Amino acid sequence: VEEADGTRRQLTVSDHDRDATGMRYVYAVVSRRAQGVSVGINLNPNNACNWRCVYCQVPDLVRGQGPPIDLARLERELDQLLRDIVDGDFLARRAPEGMRVLRDVAFSGNGEPTSSPNFADATDLVLARLAAHDLHVPVTLITNGSLCNKAAVGDAIGRLGTAGGRVWFKVDAATAAGAARINGQPLNVAAHLERARHISASCPTWIQTCMVALDGAPPDAGELDAYVAAMAELAESRVRGVLLYSLARPSFQPEAERLSALPREWLEALAARVRGVGMAVDLA
Ligand code: SF4
Repeated sequence: VEEADGTRRQLTVSDHDRDATGMRYVYAVVSRRAQGVSVGINLNPNNACNWRCVYCQVPDLVRGQGPPIDLARLERELDQLLRDIVDGDFLARRAPEGMRVLRDVAFSGNGEPTSSPNFADATDLVLARLAAHDLHVPVTLITNGSLCNKAAVGDAIGRLGTAGGRVWFKVDAATAAGAARINGQPLNVAAHLERARHISASCPTWIQTCMVALDGAPPDAGELDAYVAAMAELAESRVRGVLLYSLARPSFQPEAERLSALPREWLEALAARVRGVGMAVDLA
């Protein structure tokens, strides 16, 4: 699951210094989006996702779900990193001046976090460890949204909401064919929008949308009409708004060479249409 500004993925794969060595589930990045340090939780160290987005930056992505998590190890790793941030010199060593502050903890790994059989346990663990370290930062779930109708996932998201967390929920296309093209998975759009509505009732939820050109062509007029109509529907719900962006970094998927970023003006025109149906838009 991608983050709009792309920083998270880049540092995950290139960070070889001692803070990351030996850690399986936990990492830290300097995030331009967050204007500070973001701690990441990766529940998919097996690079498995139930979707296969053409722009995905996970190397060696495979179809599947997250493996069982060693919760004791997750707790140890998170405690070690949080201690280093709170009491150690992590921020001074790792973050540039002006960014030396912990901004959030994000479930954002090499696959879909809610596909982990231990997602709910991991959510409770992260909330408990932040409280134990007296850290009052939000926990962000970055998800493709496809499993948010599962009771255990929805309940955990509700607990995130109660604890001040938030969700970024992926909608890249609002037709089954469009989703098959960009997410590698035909989508029941009505059911997907219903999942977004459902979780937005218990946790602040933003739609995260990546639009790309494939072989030089942006999504066609029919695709865009369907997308704007979907956002109009969600504008009636408690969904807070849309984070809209285009390709930030090269894809690691076979389609990489066929993809290109859409121009800023194109994104601004789409943002204006979405705002026109009553949805706030943040352009990355
Ligand atoms: S949802 Fe898409 S972008 Fe996110 S990990 Fe899965 S395949 Fe990659």
